[in-house]
Amino acid sequence: MLEGFALILSAPSGTGKTTICKLLREKLPNLRFAISHTTRLIRDGEKDNVDYIFISTKEFEDKIKSQDFLEWAQVHNSYYGTSFQSIDEPKKNGHDALLELDVQGVESLRKMKYPGIYILILPPSIAELEARLRKRGTNSEESILQRIETGKAEIKKYKMYDYAITNHVVEDTVSSILTILHAEKVKASRYS
Ligand code: 5GP
Repeated sequence: MLEGFALILSAPSGTGKTTICKLLREKLPNLRFAISHTTRLIRDGEKDNVDYIFISTKEFEDKIKSQDFLEWAQVHNSYYGTSFQSIDEPKKNGHDALLELDVQGVESLRKMKYPGIYILILPPSIAELEARLRKRGTNSEESILQRIETGKAEIKKYKMYDYAITNHVVEDTVSSILTILHAEKVKASRYS
C-alpha cells in the first residue's frame, strides 16, 4: 500500500478556507483532516475535536515541552499546532491527510523537508479579503485589521508553495486542487 499524501493548505483568514476544506472532504472520501490543537476561543458553529482540539495555554505549552507537535506557531495571539499523531495515523493507514497551516507552519515543514503538496489559496484582492472578513462578522475591528496585515505578509511568501490558486469561485478552486492531487498521484516517481 502506498503511504497517503500530506496536502498542506494555507489560506489567509477570510479567503474561504473553511468552505474549501468542507468541499474537499466531501469530494475526497480518502482524505482525513489533521485536526490541529489551538488555544483560541471556539467560534459559533465550531465543534471541539472536529474543527480543532481546543485546549488551554497551559495544556498547549505542556505539549510543546513533551514534543507532541510536528510544528506549532502563534497566530493572531493564539497558539496553533499540528500533533504528530494527527498526521501519522491517517498516513499510516493509506489515507491522505489535509493539513491547514499558516505560513509559519509551512516554513517549519519546508525547513525539515516534510514531503507533501503545498498549496496557497489567494484572495482575488486585498479589498475582497477585507470585505469577506467584515461580512463574516465574527471579528472585532482590531482583529480584522490584524488579519489583513497577516494576510498581506502571507501572500508575499507565495514562493514557498508548489501551487498558488486564486479563489474567485470556490467550486473552481476545489476543482483545481482535485486536478493537482490527481496529477501528483499518477507521477511515475511515486511507483517503486
Ligand atoms: P482560524 O483561527 O481562522 O481557524 O485560523 C487562523 C490561522 O491559523 C489560519 O491561517 C490557519 O491556517 C492557521 N492554522 C490552523 N491550524 C494550524 C496549525 O496546526 N499550525 C499552524 N502553524 N497554523 C495553523
